Amino acid sequence: MKFNKHLQDIVTYEAGKPIELVVREFGISPSEIIKLASNENPFGCSKKVQEAVREIIPNMSLYPDDSMWKLKHAIGNRFSVKDDNVIIGAGSDQIIEFAMHAKSSKEGSILTNSVTFAMYEIYAKHVGARVIKTSSMQHDLNEFYELYQKHNPDIIFLCTPNNPTGDAIDSDDMIGFLKKIDSETLVVVDGAYIEYGAYKDKSKAISPKELIWQFDNVLYLGTFSKIYGLGGMRVGYGIACVDIIKTLYKLRPPFNITTLSLEAASVALSDEQFIQECLVSNFSQMKRYENFALENNIKIINSYTNFITFLLSERYNSSDLAYFLLKKGMIIRDLKGYGLNAVRITIGKPAQNDIFFKLMSEYL
Ligand SMILES: *Cc1c(COP(=O)(O)O)cnc(C)c1O
Repeated sequence: MKFNKHLQDIVTYEAGKPIELVVREFGISPSEIIKLASNENPFGCSKKVQEAVREIIPNMSLYPDDSMWKLKHAIGNRFSVKDDNVIIGAGSDQIIEFAMHAKSSKEGSILTNSVTFAMYEIYAKHVGARVIKTSSMQHDLNEFYELYQKHNPDIIFLCTPNNPTGDAIDSDDMIGFLKKIDSETLVVVDGAYIEYGAYKDKSKAISPKELIWQFDNVLYLGTFSKIYGLGGMRVGYGIACVDIIKTLYKLRPPFNITTLSLEAASVALSDEQFIQECLVSNFSQMKRYENFALENNIKIINSYTNFITFLLSERYNSSDLAYFLLKKGMIIRDLKGYGLNAVRITIGKPAQNDIFFKLMSEYL
């Protein structure tokens, strides 16, 4: 059967291998498998979230509150924006998809960093848009500006801190860049890891409120899948001027967020102590990874996230390494598909990281 031509060259997104797959393929028992592959929170989610979700389980026969008032209001409060400035998606992924359908098309194009979140490109291809990429591995806003002038893309994606490299854009530099972009170009600022970036270095912090007050063409994205530990719940959000949000709403399927997910995300926002504890552990454990890399002559990129990228020398092959670890029950992310001889490791709990260092030493 012939399908839409522009779908032909989509490379299907390869998610981090789930634990169940390693159980099946290698016969390792689930309790012995460690997944440091998808930047999930190794501490899970707040206990308060678990209690709240348990309480509403009996309500599952009813459709969710499609106005999503409680969660929108909680997000509005957190960021000092109005509820009308907020849209909720089944993961921020879904909002990327809405943005693509709202703004790009077969005649159009988008501009992204050379190495970045794979879904920008995949959703662009859904609508047949061309994907223009920078050459620099880390965000170089001068290069972004040159390519913007040359190609006039429909959408520019800035991912800060960036996945899978871990680097982050200085917020002042970003504001300077946004001032030079015309108001007809949508700029998506993906802050999936911003809680980590802002904790490590204030100059990387982003205020969605300031962004949308200054710019009518900026869509800020956040997610509950990373620091909030709710990857399995699929909740993300977009913050933008009312005009953008109203348009994205036209593309939203009804009841796109489940009752349980809405409740989990609302409560997750209220437990700031849990988030602080996760941040403290993340960066103290990150130090251990940095030291390990230094001792073993492995190059790293300074990371503002909950993962670290090891750039391997020619002596090693990232796919071999990932497979070696997989056989031993440790799942990490091979970045070969991004054109890098590198692996991305999500910072785990102390004991999980101990095992990583032990296995990695064996491999080296
Ligand atoms: C994880 C991630 C997202 C969104 O994840 P969802 O689970 O769909 O909310 C978006 N952008 C980047 C860069 C990510 O790493």
